[in-house]
Amino acid sequence: MDFDDTPDEAAWRAEVRAFLDEHKDELGQRAGARELDATVARRRQALLYDAGYVGVTWPVDAGGRGGTPMQQSIIDQEMARAGVPGLINLIGIGMCGPTVIYHGSEDQKRRYLQRLLRAEDLWCQLFSEPASGSDLAALRTKAVQDERGDWHVTGQKVWTTLAHLSDYGILLTRTDPDVAKHRGLTMFVVDMKAPGVTVRPLKQMSGGADFNEVFFDDVVIPDSERLGEVGDGWRVALTTLMSERLTLGGGGTEIGLSVEEVTRHVAAQVAALPPERQALVRQQLGRSYVSSLGIRYTGYRLLTALSQGNLPGPEASAGKLAGTTAARDLADLAVRVLGDDAVYGATADGSSTWQDLQAVLPGMAIAGGTNEVLRNIIGERVLGLPPEPRADKDKTFRELAAAGA
Ligand SMILES: Cc1cc2nc3c(=O)[nH]c(=O)nc-3n(C[C@H](O)[C@H](O)[C@H](O)COP(=O)(O)OP(=O)(O)OC[C@H]3O[C@@H](n4cnc5c(N)ncnc54)[C@H](O)[C@@H]3O)c2cc1C
Repeated sequence: MDFDDTPDEAAWRAEVRAFLDEHKDELGQRAGARELDATVARRRQALLYDAGYVGVTWPVDAGGRGGTPMQQSIIDQEMARAGVPGLINLIGIGMCGPTVIYHGSEDQKRRYLQRLLRAEDLWCQLFSEPASGSDLAALRTKAVQDERGDWHVTGQKVWTTLAHLSDYGILLTRTDPDVAKHRGLTMFVVDMKAPGVTVRPLKQMSGGADFNEVFFDDVVIPDSERLGEVGDGWRVALTTLMSERLTLGGGGTEIGLSVEEVTRHVAAQVAALPPERQALVRQQLGRSYVSSLGIRYTGYRLLTALSQGNLPGPEASAGKLAGTTAARDLADLAVRVLGDDAVYGATADGSSTWQDLQAVLPGMAIAGGTNEVLRNIIGERVLGLPPEPRADKDKTFRELAAAGA
C-alpha cells in the first residue's frame, strides 16, 4: 500500500481543490437527506464535466478523460472534503455507462455516453423485481422478439432509484425460460419515455421518494438497443454489478457520513455533558474513528490494486459492508447527542435533520447487495469457506418458477 500522493497526484489534488474552491457557490453544499433539485443537480454535474472532473477514468472516445482510478479517487476525496453534493447521475456513471462501454455498439456509445456524463440524460438501473433482489437471476420480466426483430417487454421492476427523473435505463430481462436461470437473460437500453413504461414513486421512511416501481406493458425495444448477445445478459449484468460494488464500496471515502463531520457537529454539546456521559460519547467516536481508518485503508488497498492494473476483488464488498455500518452508528450517535429535531443542513427547499439522514442510511445497507449477501461473498471468496448449498443449479427457470422458487 502506498499512502502518499506522487508529485503528479499532488498537483492534480491542488488543481481539483482550487477549482472546487473557486466554484463553491455554484456547486453548493451537501445538506443531508432532502437535497435533490434535479435542475440544479444537472447543472452542477455539467459544470464539473466541462472542467474535466466527471468520467475521469472513462476512455476518451467515450467522453471521458482516460485518467486513472487514483485521479478519480482524489476528486471524490476533495469533493467530500469541500462538502460538495454527490453527482445526480451517479448510477449512470458508476453502473450504466460502464455497461454500455463494455457491451454497447459504437452507435450506442456515440449517442449515449457523453450526454450521460454531462447529465443531459439521466439513467437508472432496472434490475430488481418484487421476487428477485439478492437472487437477481430469478427475475421474471420477459422480452419476446417479433418477426421484425423488435423486442416486446412485459413485467415489473422495483426499487429503481431515479427512474422518475430518468431518460434511459439498462434493463435486464428474461428471453429464454427453458434454460438455467442465469442463462436465459438479455440486457437492453430502454427509453424511459417509451409508450407502455409507467413509473410510480415509492415513499421512503426518510420522507423522500428517490426510488420507484416501474411497469412495462408491451414496451417495444428495437434490437439495436440490445447490450451484448441474446442470452448473455448475466455476463453483461456482472459488469454492472462489479462497477456498482466499486462505486459504492471502493476508494477509501466514507459512505454518507464521516467521523470528523459528526465530531464537529456534536463537540459543543458533548463538552457541556457531565464527565461520565462525555466518556461514553468519546468511546463511541473513538470506535468509529478506528473503523473509519480500516475502511479508508481497505479502500486504498483497492485503489493501489487498480492503479497497478489489477481488477478489484471482494474487498470492495468489505468496504461497503463496513462503510454503511459505520455511517449508521455515527448517525445514531448524532441523533442521541443532538436530539430528534437537530438540523443537519439546509437548502433552498428547506432543511433536513439528522433524523432524516438516520432514516436514509438503512437503505444503503440493502442497495447494491445486502449486508448478509456481502458477508456471503466475503465468507466464500475471501475466507474460502464452503459455498452456500445451491439446489437450483440444474433446473430450468420454467421448472423453478413452476415450483414457486
Ligand atoms: C436505497 C435503495 C436503492 C436501490 N436502488 C436500486 C436500483 O436503482 N435498481 C435496482 O435494480 N435495485 C435497486 N435496489 C434494490 C436492491 O438491489 C435490493 O433491495 C437488494 O438487492 C435486496 O433485494 P430484496 O430487496 O429483494 O431483498 P431479498 O433479496 O428478498 O432479501 C431479504 C432478506 O433476506 C436476506 N437474504 C437474501 N438472500 C440471502 C442469502 N443468500 N443469504 C443470507 N441472507 C439472504 C437479505 O439480506 C435480506 O435481509 C435498491 C434498494 C435500496 C434499498
